[in-house]
Amino acid sequence: MKIGVLALQGAVEEHVRMLEKSGAEALSVKHPHELETLDGLVIPGGESTTISKLMHQYKLTEPIKQMGLAGKPLFGTCAGLIMLARRIEGVSSCHLGLLDITVRRNAFGRQRESFETALDISGVADDYEAVFIRAPSVTDVGPGVEVLSSVDDRIVVVRQGHLLGAAFHPELTEDHRLHSLFVTMVQDSMKMTTI
Ligand code: GLN
Repeated sequence: MKIGVLALQGAVEEHVRMLEKSGAEALSVKHPHELETLDGLVIPGGESTTISKLMHQYKLTEPIKQMGLAGKPLFGTCAGLIMLARRIEGVSSCHLGLLDITVRRNAFGRQRESFETALDISGVADDYEAVFIRAPSVTDVGPGVEVLSSVDDRIVVVRQGHLLGAAFHPELTEDHRLHSLFVTMVQDSMKMTTI
């Protein structure tokens, strides 16, 4: 199993390390041909408009979208969650448009630009220490989307089949349980395609 971490912006090496700790082979990727050999992809945080520009520049937008449409697991964290969303509040366009959610950018306000809190993430942990940095929240979910965690009534972890999204930075602590969930999702999707 080989999982890529999109290396356009953000804490790429930290994601690679967390995936390795979860038992997967992981590598950073930034060219379309590198996507072909992957069984799953992590889209790290950063700044979504910058990531979007770079994705277009490196001709990655369409191939990543196709990966998602083909059922390959994708995990978007923070800005990566915004990249996956079908709807972004206040704008009429979106980026990859795969995950049936609406996101609100910088949802936790200026006074709380960054904070840590313990989350109860359904099926993952009830004491997951999460680092939020200018984080988005999910304000609406489609019927196929499971809400795995919320903080102060704001949705922060969602899953829609092979698509996983978290509003925070799961790569910045030592806790790899959310990455482990993603690795399991990749394993399951590989079983499904070999049957
Ligand atoms: N605020 C950023 C955005 O809107 C996301 C922040 C992050 O990824 N840490 O793109």
